[in-house]
Amino acid sequence: MTTHGRSIVVLDFGGQYAQLIARRVREARVFSVVLPPDEPEEGIRRWNPAGIILSGGPQSVYDEGAPLPRTDPRTLGVPVLGLCYGMQWMAHVGGGEVTPANGREYGRAVARLETDSELFAGLEAEQTVWMSHGDSVLRPPAGYRITGSTPSTPVAAFEDSERRLYGLQFHPEVRHTEHGSAILENFLFRACGVRPDWTIASFRHEKVEAIRRQAPSGAVVCALSGGVDSAVTALLLREALGDRVYPILVDHGLLRAHEARQVGEAFGRLGIAIRAVDAADLFFSRLESVTDPEEKRRVIGRTFIEVFEEEAREIPDARYLAQGTLYPDVIESISIKGPSAVIKTHHNVGGLPEKLGLELIEPVRELFKDEVRRLGGELGLPQEFLSRHPFPGPGLAVRIPGEVTREKVAILQRADEIVLEEIRAAGLYGAISQAFAVLLPVRSVGVMGDNRTHDFVVAVRAVQTTDFMTADWFRMPHEVLDAIASRIDVQASRDDRVGVARPETSHMTPEEFRRHGRAVVDWIADYMERIESFPVVSRVLPGEIRAALPEVPPKRGESFDAMLADVDRIILPGITHWQSPNFFAYFPSNNSGPAILGELLSAGLGVQGMLWATSPACTELETHVLDWLVGMLGLPEKFRSNSTGGGVIQDTASSATLCALLAGRERATGFRANESGGDGMLTAYASTQAHSSVEKAVKIAGLGRENLRLIEVDEKFAMRPEGLARAISEDRRAGKIPSFVCATVGTTSSNAIDPVAEIGKLCRDEGIWLHVDAAMSGTAALCPEFRGIQEGVELADSYCFNPHKWMFTNFDCDAFWVADRAALIRTLSVLPEYLRNKATESGAVFDYRDWHVPLGRRFRALKLWFVIRHYGVEGLQHHIRRHVELARKFKAWVEKSNRFELAAPVPLNLVCFRHVGGDEINRNLLETLNASGRLYLTHTSLGGKYTLRMSIGQRQTEERHVAAAWQAIEELAVEVEPTV
Ligand code: PLP
Repeated sequence: MTTHGRSIVVLDFGGQYAQLIARRVREARVFSVVLPPDEPEEGIRRWNPAGIILSGGPQSVYDEGAPLPRTDPRTLGVPVLGLCYGMQWMAHVGGGEVTPANGREYGRAVARLETDSELFAGLEAEQTVWMSHGDSVLRPPAGYRITGSTPSTPVAAFEDSERRLYGLQFHPEVRHTEHGSAILENFLFRACGVRPDWTIASFRHEKVEAIRRQAPSGAVVCALSGGVDSAVTALLLREALGDRVYPILVDHGLLRAHEARQVGEAFGRLGIAIRAVDAADLFFSRLESVTDPEEKRRVIGRTFIEVFEEEAREIPDARYLAQGTLYPDVIESISIKGPSAVIKTHHNVGGLPEKLGLELIEPVRELFKDEVRRLGGELGLPQEFLSRHPFPGPGLAVRIPGEVTREKVAILQRADEIVLEEIRAAGLYGAISQAFAVLLPVRSVGVMGDNRTHDFVVAVRAVQTTDFMTADWFRMPHEVLDAIASRIDVQASRDDRVGVARPETSHMTPEEFRRHGRAVVDWIADYMERIESFPVVSRVLPGEIRAALPEVPPKRGESFDAMLADVDRIILPGITHWQSPNFFAYFPSNNSGPAILGELLSAGLGVQGMLWATSPACTELETHVLDWLVGMLGLPEKFRSNSTGGGVIQDTASSATLCALLAGRERATGFRANESGGDGMLTAYASTQAHSSVEKAVKIAGLGRENLRLIEVDEKFAMRPEGLARAISEDRRAGKIPSFVCATVGTTSSNAIDPVAEIGKLCRDEGIWLHVDAAMSGTAALCPEFRGIQEGVELADSYCFNPHKWMFTNFDCDAFWVADRAALIRTLSVLPEYLRNKATESGAVFDYRDWHVPLGRRFRALKLWFVIRHYGVEGLQHHIRRHVELARKFKAWVEKSNRFELAAPVPLNLVCFRHVGGDEINRNLLETLNASGRLYLTHTSLGGKYTLRMSIGQRQTEERHVAAAWQAIEELAVEVEPTV
């Protein structure tokens, strides 16, 4: 019984295109099978055929022993389409005449077709068709009419429309026949009347039912090879039979690097536990001294069966054995070409079913490779797994001439891994059908550094093929070969030969650190160089990165190269490239060479700088650099450490705002809130445009969100001081205690500048703590001409900006100053006995753990120090000026455009703009731009309108990037605009 509805049976007369016919029919979403011509009637009927196609074939119908159908398909009551030899057979048995060839006709021909034929309905009368034949029909049988001819083949098509018998001398299944698919579809849908309802999803559904019928009880053992076919088989069975399925992976130690683990993980993520049998020791011991390639295969085959058998016997009530035989294997073994490929159908687990007395289940034996891949996708196998290159059953043993040893396998695994990594990195994995490394049986002498070497030689093989029967070598670009060669040279042959044997408890030695550290620095430098080649926004889907990570940590330590390779393979695709010069999202977050090196040094020193005493340099450098910054930014002297104030590095502006709010709260309550908690009477103020971190701080500090007043803004989105004054006096009248105001210099949404001077006067009169949040824009004050933005800052109690946003310093680095450090320290200080020390008690030092929320702290001043010293004040000013200038250019382009309008003033480096066509267009435009990979923009809402924001603050952004962004914006705008 077929598991499908109606199908099309292709009788294979040995023609080269029989499989192709079946494929084309399936592409038209009708199920099809290929059967041998001597298939008995019940064998054909089993497939419930809606029509029969007779394939071509190399012979002449007059030849002795020419293939003849055992059952005359014309008597089965369904339409028949004979192609080439099939047509000639129809002519011959019907009493027509076939002429032996004068020569072969091969290639394109122009056919004239009768378009009133069902087969040619809807087509042009003149068509290019593909011919490949010797004999041809001279005269059709009685009752047939000629429906097509070419200049050299008068009977190129015929039909008996009453009996629905059709013949074509040309090949509609070949793409060179211009409308071949349409002709086949006419046969399927018009002549046979089938519906296009066969899909992989329907196959899955039907197959699951069929498996349940075949195996109503008992367990199924399923041999996994690490390849796609067996994996899909296991998944399908699992869907049908649940935990009656036992997938077993015999790891013979000859798999690719990490393969056994990856297969286990891929299944684990799908909720299926596989039994992975580590039989490497047994295999290696059996392979000892075996050098003959055939003998190796036999040893591996026998050992495999032995191990598998042992495992299978442990499975209670095992009655079935499942394997991933594919349709091309089946076709090869049934076609008239002879049984040469029969062995292929059982090659994975040869002989096992009989030995174990198990019934065979082959659920994908009707599918082609690409269909199995699609089915795997349906069943949830990750793409990475589905698109794997094929790998031989006996594994790397076939790629190691001579004796197979652990050492050689380890070297080859690493070399193979490098080959695939480089091919993947070059984006060629999909273009190559199969690529791998082979260890050659010779050792060659070379020189590496100052040493003479005597190492294995590795060959790299890469082929392209469509059918995996014939192959052409892949023209590998020289750069890729070069990358492979240099890495294999340095890594595979040395590092990993010892690397695999690395004791699991060993630390990285300083020598190893030096080597790997250099590799990391090289990696970062390469990343900087190639950053523009990545799509700016990561394209992975939720869960994709985790899916590529091992479920459990490695039991034994891994090589550093493997880790760095995984950064490329797993991590990079999940990176949104903040350092790309095409990153225009708000907000920027920079790094730079000196900052990265400062971070590295900080990590190397591993200092915990909570107290002055725990590392004096950590505290003193920080104090000093923050004093430098007071001068560099033109901030008030009261923020310097030698006055009443001082600066500290916080992780983020959010933390700085929280600390300021806490100090404000304490000052307003005479430090009572710290002792007895809040009473719900304290209030805080910020504009409607202030950053959400203010609200978060109000929540954390226990003021309660209801006690945060969001003050209205003016047409420039800046806080209205009169609104603030009104809110404060209303609160006072209501008995509340106004304790904290946050003014923003450069709001997140539109870069609006609150009037700090007016707000400051009000706060001073009212005795309220004023904090100024200049997270991004504060950097602009490095340039005297932009200092107007912070006018009035001398009235502030605290101030912060993030060098990690726009001052080329790695996250996390927020610079925070207070005018009265005693207030801050009193608010946050707790001194347990175990932290007491002489320096603290002398009062002569700062203990920065009292200046922020956490106790512990990293040596973050190093990176800031390096940045300031590397660029110098003038260097920093140069870049900031440049960014502002570019933003002004962009603003001018927007102003000139008819399509776009400015949505807010542009005080510095953020341009808020929008398409004049409304929210929907702007939303679509943003999505299209970001999906294009060319740039990254973010949006906001201003005055209730969807607004795009172009923020120019990346270290490497130049005019060409901004111009390209504008070009992309204009180009893609045309695409998303509705057509009239
Ligand atoms: N304040 C303003 C004005 C901001 O724009 C931002 C971030 O965009 C923040 C605060 C929060 O920054 P952080 O991540 O340093 O807390």
